Amino acid sequence: MFKSSQSSYPSQSKMLKNLLSEAYKTAKQGLCGDRVLAQKETVDYRLGICATCDKFNAEEKRCTLCGCFMMVKANLEASNCPDNKW
Ligand code: SF4
Repeated sequence: MFKSSQSSYPSQSKMLKNLLSEAYKTAKQGLCGDRVLAQKETVDYRLGICATCDKFNAEEKRCTLCGCFMMVKANLEASNCPDNKW
């Protein structure tokens, strides 16, 4: 199951909703012929902000607001920060 640090993340249903939302946005962009993966500069920019954010779990490389794995989410062009930081 989950580690004890799981308690700092949103509920499983909320994380599933967040995941499906990101998947939907990404699929929609792909179907429209738009860029699906973010450019390296964008990914670096996003991860740089996350690295200084108090909502970032550096050990697990996850955002505690949305529960997403940032090495994945930051690479998706359509993604956005749940705290509007990027
Ligand atoms: S996605 Fe936003 S809220 Fe989450 S860790 Fe990154 S900067 Fe912080």
